[in-house]
Amino acid sequence: MSSLPILVLNSGSSSIKFAVYEAYDGQRSKICEGAVDGIATDNGKFWIKDAAGNKLTDETPDLPNRSVAFQLVAHSVLSGKFPKPKAIGHRTVSGSPTVLENQLITPELIDNLDKYADLAPLHTPIAVYIMREALKLFPGIPNFAVLDTYFHRTISEGARRMPIPDEYVDMGVRRYGYHGISYESIIHQLQPNIPQKLIVAHLGNGASISAIRNGQCLDTSMGLTPSGGIISASRTGDIDPGVVIFILKQIAKSEPDTRKAADKLETVVSKNSGLVGMSGVSNDMRDLREAIKQGNEHARLAVDKFTSTIARWVGSFYAELNGLDMLVFTGGIGENDIASRTEICANLEALGIVIDPTRNNVRGQATISADDSRVTVCVIPPAEDLIIVNHVIRLLGD
Ligand code: ADP
Repeated sequence: MSSLPILVLNSGSSSIKFAVYEAYDGQRSKICEGAVDGIATDNGKFWIKDAAGNKLTDETPDLPNRSVAFQLVAHSVLSGKFPKPKAIGHRTVSGSPTVLENQLITPELIDNLDKYADLAPLHTPIAVYIMREALKLFPGIPNFAVLDTYFHRTISEGARRMPIPDEYVDMGVRRYGYHGISYESIIHQLQPNIPQKLIVAHLGNGASISAIRNGQCLDTSMGLTPSGGIISASRTGDIDPGVVIFILKQIAKSEPDTRKAADKLETVVSKNSGLVGMSGVSNDMRDLREAIKQGNEHARLAVDKFTSTIARWVGSFYAELNGLDMLVFTGGIGENDIASRTEICANLEALGIVIDPTRNNVRGQATISADDSRVTVCVIPPAEDLIIVNHVIRLLGD
């Protein structure tokens, strides 16, 4: 087989990240990675680095909108400086009730995802836009959607079903789960010694946790949307549904338009809550730790809520798995925030989860459990691009 260059695209609310990989038999090597950041702000940035981390491009362009930003990416990738991609993999946060498999992107698929944009309202509209643009700017190159929901296709029927009437289930309301590409990348890195009973906590700006049996997802904390489960940077996580109804009724007093009222409610639930909402300080764990050092009680309460909620999910997944062999921390907080790992594990000794303070004093890949811990506790950074590349190669083969 000749070498196969693959472009990976990962679009966010104000950035588009990309990387070019070259695949040859079982080998995967990164050629370059880059990003356009600060879209629609006065602070536009565009950079590309080679595999060794040397900056090839470092600019501060005007990025008035996403279209200009994506054209910069497309022109650079096709400039001839890098091997021309033979396929493109799009990190796709959400599928839809009928899109549960990774697949070739067609206009029909894009319309389907668009129709269900409310499942991941912060992500899908952007992803759909980039998919449409990519079909235009990379003609003749197949594009594939690689879904964060795909890993969770194996969750149990009980985990999938929401306790609501069938009429809403028939509309596609169910637990989908998110961060699946990160979870897959942890399993990939643990091969060939995948523990039978595994819990992975992906703690980044969004936070979720999954119970995994023999490498397959059994249950996961996020639900219909990424707002479910654990409290995160700006999302509530699971709360009493009565709270949502109460807030909606308050909003409706001054907003008679139902759609607008729902949008305002969504802003409260997914942008103004969680760590930033509770602390009034920041959605960034580094700022919160600094505020705690300065004695800020609101920041302390927010972070305590975050870590204690995660500990409770570990406890419930321990019960669901009927034991535990390994606990893995990943994501920006999971990898870097030593204090969060200490606080989460503080009350889990009864479950045989004991971390060693010296081993835990680390950022990045490590085993941090104490010698007498029944459960192995590890920190493993995700390798999401690699998983996207692997899916694209498999789909090209199909
Ligand atoms: P995303 O979900 O957007 O991919 P990340 O996985 O990069 O986000 O995680 C972002 C979070 O990681 C932020 O809350 C940030 O504070 C936290 N983080 C990153 N580096 C550190 C660090 N050195 N110490 C503590 N927290 C960190």
